[in-house]
Amino acid sequence: MPGVTLDLVRKPAARPSDQPNLAGLTRARLAAALVEAGAVPADKAKMRANQLWRWIHHRGLTDFEGMSDVSKELRTVLQDRFSLARPEIVERQVSRDGTRKWLLRFAPGIEVETVYIPDVGRAGALCVSSQVGCTLNCTFCHTGTQALVRNLSAAEIVAQVQVAKDDLEEWGFPGEDRRLSNIVFMGMGEPLYNLDAVADAIDIISDGEGISISRRRITVSTSGVVPELTALGERTQAMLAISLHATNDTLRDELVPLNRKYPINELMDAIRAYPGISNARRVTFEYVMLKGVNDSPAEAKALVNLLKGIPAKINLIPFNPWPGTAYTCSDWATIERFAAVLNRAGYASPIRNPRGRDILAACGQLKSESEKLRASARRQTASAEAAAENLS
Ligand code: SAH
Ligand code: SF4
Repeated sequence: MPGVTLDLVRKPAARPSDQPNLAGLTRARLAAALVEAGAVPADKAKMRANQLWRWIHHRGLTDFEGMSDVSKELRTVLQDRFSLARPEIVERQVSRDGTRKWLLRFAPGIEVETVYIPDVGRAGALCVSSQVGCTLNCTFCHTGTQALVRNLSAAEIVAQVQVAKDDLEEWGFPGEDRRLSNIVFMGMGEPLYNLDAVADAIDIISDGEGISISRRRITVSTSGVVPELTALGERTQAMLAISLHATNDTLRDELVPLNRKYPINELMDAIRAYPGISNARRVTFEYVMLKGVNDSPAEAKALVNLLKGIPAKINLIPFNPWPGTAYTCSDWATIERFAAVLNRAGYASPIRNPRGRDILAACGQLKSESEKLRASARRQTASAEAAAENLS
């Protein structure tokens, strides 16, 4: 790939605080927390919370000092009880094509990677993680080979967006010039096994007096946790992406073992019932291209049949191999043949060589204890880049 450079910057370590981070609280919880801490009387809580909200989520402040319309006394109380600190940025990479990556450490051993991909969606998409590791064991996914370390909190999910906005210098009202327009939950972890934190984070990120990324530009990707789909739609109004990868239960049982619990027909019924789907709000189906496994023209036809009647987009994701995997990526010609069947049925189904792949590979040169986790996050975000490609 021409013209890609790697600019690796190590930032001095910030010290994440043990105090509760206000950035992870919804408006209502923020007001309640202020009262509980004795910082604000109950009758002033809502007004104070709204005031703090703008400083935290509109201006992006990382300390209480800069809150010029808050009394010194209250600022001191807030300082003693709460935090607005960002996580430690362990590594930051920028490529000339505009892709940016951050390795964030929330606590010892609690590290995730977040990637900003320009020219995806309306302006650029941020791929965020919802868990460290994953409890599911999709056989083609490296995260699936690792035990779950833990769920991320709402504050830790919001922090990924805050770090990106710090770096893009995008606090305040960027208006039409904003570079961060979309969020995709396609990093590490299964978002529907952490729905409370994901839903709170989406409430916070989408708030019109804060980061203000519309719910229609927030996509949650799931391997198919059927009982949580309706709750996801009702609580978040987020766009839905489904990691399908196979068109029959025998194969999907193997690739996405959660399918044994929630087979394809149940998944399809739950998708049809997803609140708010329409031609303007289509479901994205992700389909990883595995050589000789799921990539025949017959499977492309089966995919078209399966999706009949569902407002859908399809993303073909070239498989990103990892050490020890039994799978390889389908040949390019095979992927094109597969895509041609979808195209004939009216699906745009873009395939692309993920941009920034060179830097994603280059960062494999970084060494640390958590290298395995990071390598996995890289693969996930490379997939997310491909998957996020036709989000609008
Ligand atoms: N757990 C959620 C979201 C994170 S995975 C889910 O499974 O949907 C984001 C996307 O990357 C999913 O579609 C996942 O199937 C895909 N993926 C995982 N490992 C991959 C790999 N090695 N190559 C290509 N895509 C991969
Ligand atoms: Fe977990 Fe998604 Fe990977 Fe499956 S593909 S193991 S659900 S992160």
